Amino acid sequence: MKILFLQLPVPTLVPQKSVGNHLLAASSLFLHAKFHNALSDHEVDALPQELCTRAGDLCVVDAISTKSPDIVAFTCTVWNIERSLFIAESLKKRIPSIKVWLGGPEIASDAFFMNGEDQPFDLAVEGEGEEVFRLLLQGVDPSSIDRVYIPAGNKNVTVFPNAIDSLCSIHEPFIDGFAEMEADGVILSELFRGCRYGCMFCRYTASGAKKNFALRPYDQVTELFNWSRKNDAGELFLLDPSFEQRPDLHEFLQSLSKVNSNPQIPIFAELRAESVTRELAELLIKAGIQHVETGLQTVNSVALKNVKRSLNREKFSSGVRNLQAVGIKIRPDIMIGLPGDTPDGLRETMDFIKKLGLAADAQVFKTQVLPGTSLRKEAHRFGIEYEQRPPYQVLATPQWRNEELGESLFDAEEILGTRCTPDEAPVLLCSQKKVKEIARFHNTTIEYAYYFDCTQQQGREFFLNETFANTSVTVSMVCKLSELKQINAVKTGLSLFYKANPFSNSIIGFEVPPGFPLDLFDIVNSIKMQNNYSSYIQSLYPTAGSDTPHRRTMACLNILDSHHCSTDWLCELREVAEVVWIIPLSIVTDGTLGKMNCVESVDFLYIDRATDPVPDSQLRRLSATAFKYQVVFSDVSTQWRFVEMRNKSDS
Ligand code: SF4
Repeated sequence: MKILFLQLPVPTLVPQKSVGNHLLAASSLFLHAKFHNALSDHEVDALPQELCTRAGDLCVVDAISTKSPDIVAFTCTVWNIERSLFIAESLKKRIPSIKVWLGGPEIASDAFFMNGEDQPFDLAVEGEGEEVFRLLLQGVDPSSIDRVYIPAGNKNVTVFPNAIDSLCSIHEPFIDGFAEMEADGVILSELFRGCRYGCMFCRYTASGAKKNFALRPYDQVTELFNWSRKNDAGELFLLDPSFEQRPDLHEFLQSLSKVNSNPQIPIFAELRAESVTRELAELLIKAGIQHVETGLQTVNSVALKNVKRSLNREKFSSGVRNLQAVGIKIRPDIMIGLPGDTPDGLRETMDFIKKLGLAADAQVFKTQVLPGTSLRKEAHRFGIEYEQRPPYQVLATPQWRNEELGESLFDAEEILGTRCTPDEAPVLLCSQKKVKEIARFHNTTIEYAYYFDCTQQQGREFFLNETFANTSVTVSMVCKLSELKQINAVKTGLSLFYKANPFSNSIIGFEVPPGFPLDLFDIVNSIKMQNNYSSYIQSLYPTAGSDTPHRRTMACLNILDSHHCSTDWLCELREVAEVVWIIPLSIVTDGTLGKMNCVESVDFLYIDRATDPVPDSQLRRLSATAFKYQVVFSDVSTQWRFVEMRNKSDS
C-alpha cells in the first residue's frame, strides 16, 4: 500500500514566515510503525511540509494526485477539518479508487461530519493513532478495531488498541520522520503524554487518553537537544500538557539543566502557575524554560466548578510572582463564556490579571465547545448555544446573551490593552512596468502574489488564462484598471480562482486612478464571497475591523496623484475597501509623508518596488517612524525582515 500523509496548516490572514505546521503526527505514526517492523509491505510518505503549509487547495490536490497514493491520511484539527474534507472530496472525484483515512483531535462521534451521508472518508480514527496505524498496516480488519469509525460499515470490535506507554518509539521526527524545522527555528516536541486533570472543555483527555504518563526517555531528550543545538534551533516549544504534573518533575528539570546548555535553547511550556514555588521557578529557568502559558480561564468559582477546574487565587498569584522573579515570561489564557461565568466575572478576571502585571500578554478567546468533550455533552444542560461548525465557539449562555459575548472581546482588548485578532498588513505586488508579475516563495513554485495590468488587453488575457494551480493558500492579486468596463475579465478570473481555491485567504487589490467609480468594489465584494466554504477565520476574529478578514479588498492609489483625490471620494472609498498608497521610499523617510493629509492611520503605505531590495539601514529608519505599522513591501521576505526588526525595536 502506498500511504501519503497530509496535514493542512492553521489558516493565516497573510503569508507568515513560519506557522508551526510541523508534521509531528504523521512522523509519530510512521516512526511507531517502523519501530514495530510494520512498514515492510508499505510505502509511507508525507506531502512535504512546505507544500502542506503553503499550497492552495488546487495545488494540494494536484500534488497528491501526482504521487498516486492508494491512501491519503489526514491529520484533522479544528482549524483544518473543513478544508481537509474538501480536499478529500476533490481527490475522490479525481481518483475514485483513492482511500481517505482521517485521524487527529477532530475525530469524535459527535463531530459534524461523522454521521452524514456520502462522507469523503473510508475510516476515521479517534484518539491516539500510533497503535491503530500499526494494526492497520499489519492487515487487521478495521471493523474489528476499537476507536475506528467506518462510514455506514458494520463493526464487530475485538481489538482494543492501547495508548503507547513510552514515547521511545516516536523519537526523532525531525531526523527520521517528516517534520522539518521552519524558518523561525522553533522545534515542536512532546516530552511526555498524559494528563491527570479533566477539564471539561478539553479534548486531550476526553477520548479516553490515559492518565498514566508516557515519557520520552532521558537519553532521547539529550539527543533532541544535541540535534537542536547542531541545527541552530531558536526555541523548543513543548506540546506537553501542564508540565508540572510530570511524575519525575524535579529530577527531570535537573537533568534538563545539564542537557540544555552551551548554548541553552529557550523552552516554551504550559503549566499551572499555582504549582510554582520559588524553588521550582529556579529549576525551571535553569533548565531553559523561559516562557510559559498558564490557563487561568476565569476567576469565577461557579464556572470553574462547572468545568471541573480549580483555582486558588493566592497560590496562583504567588506562582506568578515566583515565575516573574526569575525572569520567566507568562502568557495567561482567559476563556469567555464558560458555563456559569458572567460579564462581571470576566471583568473580575481581567482585573486579577492586570494586578499581576500580565494584561498585555493575556490570550483571550471565546470558549470552544469541541467535539468529543464533556462540555459538548453537557452543553444542553448548561443552556449553552454554540457554533455547529469550527471553531465551535459559544454563541450564548443563560448568563451571556449573544451580542454581549461578541462585545466582551472588544472590552477585553480595551481593558487589557491586548489584541484578540492579529493585525496583519497586506502583502501585495504592484508593478510600474510589467503587464503581469508573479511573486513566489523562495525556493518553491508556490505563488503568493499576482499583478495584472488590466488596462491592457494582454493583461486581461493573462488574468483569464491564469489557472491558479500553483497558488498559495494565502494570496494577493492586484489588478490595474483605468475604466470600469475592464472589470469583466477580472470578474471571470476571480470566479475561477475561488472555485479552484475556496479555502484561500485572499487580498484582492485594484490600482485605480483618483475618482474611479466605486461600483467596482460592490461588484468585487460580491464575487469574493463565492465558494466561501468556511467561516472559521471570520468567526474567530470578530474584532478584525472587517467582516471578511479572510477575503479583503484593497484600493491601491498612487500618492503622487493624491491631490486629485477628493476628500468625499476617499471617505466613501474607505467604506468599501482598505486604502493602500503606493509611495516612493524617500517620501516616508524624509518627513514629507507626515504633511500629507490624505493618509489616514487605517491606510497602508506600499513601498514602490523600484526601491527594492530595501537595505537594513532603511528598514531600521522606517521602523522608527510614526508609519511603522502601515508600511508594506512588494516582497514578502522584506516584509518579514521589517516586521522582525520592528518587533525587536518595540520590545
Ligand atoms: S486543559 Fe490542559 S490541564 Fe486541562 S485536561 Fe486539558 S491538557 Fe489537561
